[in-house]
Amino acid sequence: MSYQEIISLMQSPTENDKILIEKAFNFALTAHEGQKRKSGEPYFVHVFETAKNLADLKMDTPTIVAGFLHDSIEDGVATEERIKNEFGEEVLFLINGVTKLGKVKYRGAERHIESLRKFIVASSEDIRVLIIKLADRLHNMRTIKFVRPDKQKRIALETLEIYAPLAYRLSIRKISRELEDLSFENAYPEEFGKTVELKKNKKAEILPRLEKFIKSVKKALAEQGVIHMQTDYRKKGIYSLYRKLQTHENDIEKIYDLLAIRICVDTIADCYKVLGIIHGVWRPLPGRIKDYIAFPKPNGYQSIHTTVFTGDGSIVEVQIRTFEMHNISEYGIASHLAYKENDSNKKATHDTNWFKQLLPKMINFPGVNKNKGDEMPKWIKDLAESQKGIKTESEKDGFINDLKADFFNERIFVFTPKGDVVDLPDGSYVLDFAYAIHSDVGNHTNSAKINGKMVSLDSKLKNGDIVEIITNKSNKPNERWEHIVKTNMAKRHIANYLDKTRKK
Ligand code: MN
Repeated sequence: MSYQEIISLMQSPTENDKILIEKAFNFALTAHEGQKRKSGEPYFVHVFETAKNLADLKMDTPTIVAGFLHDSIEDGVATEERIKNEFGEEVLFLINGVTKLGKVKYRGAERHIESLRKFIVASSEDIRVLIIKLADRLHNMRTIKFVRPDKQKRIALETLEIYAPLAYRLSIRKISRELEDLSFENAYPEEFGKTVELKKNKKAEILPRLEKFIKSVKKALAEQGVIHMQTDYRKKGIYSLYRKLQTHENDIEKIYDLLAIRICVDTIADCYKVLGIIHGVWRPLPGRIKDYIAFPKPNGYQSIHTTVFTGDGSIVEVQIRTFEMHNISEYGIASHLAYKENDSNKKATHDTNWFKQLLPKMINFPGVNKNKGDEMPKWIKDLAESQKGIKTESEKDGFINDLKADFFNERIFVFTPKGDVVDLPDGSYVLDFAYAIHSDVGNHTNSAKINGKMVSLDSKLKNGDIVEIITNKSNKPNERWEHIVKTNMAKRHIANYLDKTRKK
């Protein structure tokens, strides 16, 4: 472990960047001196590996520095003051963001999963905070076998339900695939074992034929003048295979992309040329040609997929894309953030939320490389589409705030005393929360506490409130309740109840 190892992974670091990395390395070493992980390894190994994951994603220097320091206040001996003095406010801001995210816990309440994902995205004011959290979680998952078994399960489920899908939505496949497989193994060991076994047998059967096929493909392409290319095969992740098996009657013979051939070329025109050459030599399976270049997936993924008969009894999926598309499919949003900014742009501060970080790089803002817009994930592009004609800074700010409000639909996030997150429309009352938990809880609400203090039932909730509902079996909804709820769900339950009692 050395700081040079990190530097060697970075994208053209300046002298100043190198000095900062060395400084962060040494700072973390001191801050965690003598501390051990559950594995018995020095704690420093964890923060080093987190920083390494970030360098591998080609993140900027403040992010990698924050990776080194992310546990130095919570678990180490560093103080906010010292970090601010030695590394500046931006790094401190990122660390505090990661600490805040660490307080959110998934407890397995199925119906709140989407709330929790939204909450995590909304609280990561800067997308880099979320990416640090993913890099941190990746190392925690790699070493999960040292954690207490009951905790293992909770962390694995949290990763599978929350963090892996978030990494996928940010299209950081490089991280989401590994997070999926590590957490699948720990959350559902039996299913994992079965899937691994299935894959192993099938792979042994098809690999030799596949390697022969790759050789023939290379030859066919070279004959047509496609020389600058890279071919390899990509293995399907275990979890992704498991999911696919579920929709294919658990029949591995029906899965054609267990091992897929990947061909990377320079330009989009080359991609279609390669497709033409391949279809000229090997017969494609009808209905299996997918053009994700013309029609990218919602997370921005671009590639052409086709499935062909290889002539020796096998059926193989071929994926064709440019080198750039390949890079984006592995690194996703990280690949958009990983660019060298000039010094005037480098001052990212607290108030730059993550939309702001991304939006200036998009099509319609002045001074933006037009070609860059083409490689944005679609959901971000859609957000950008609606901001044509914005000129001044304050218009831009207003737009971004509206956007954030729309995106999260004016939601607030409140907690149960156990830490489950419930998202409700802004302006919701205590009773809305009670009905969101369960209609029985709502119907028997007697009183409520917000942040530990007794409140009246017409109290409105604020973002981040911890709400406790005290029920009483003999308590019932009354007419007044109809006026102190905001959600349609709560209104409906109350009206139903009152209707029934009126009829009686
Ligand atoms: Mn950590």
